[in-house]
Amino acid sequence: MSEVRCLNCLKRFSVNAGADEAACPYCKTRYRISWPRQDQPKIRGLVEKSR
Ligand SMILES: [Zn+2]
Repeated sequence: MSEVRCLNCLKRFSVNAGADEAACPYCKTRYRISWPRQDQPKIRGLVEKSR
């Protein structure tokens, strides 16, 4: 399972393979995800709200 650490609440949560967005299930913060390696997601930043 691929996981990232939430930058807001510091808990780890799983990310679906290849997803470009993920939401922390604990604090609901949404992040943009990149994949430096196929099995290693990394948080790029917050998802900006669309206008
Ligand atoms: Zn969180």
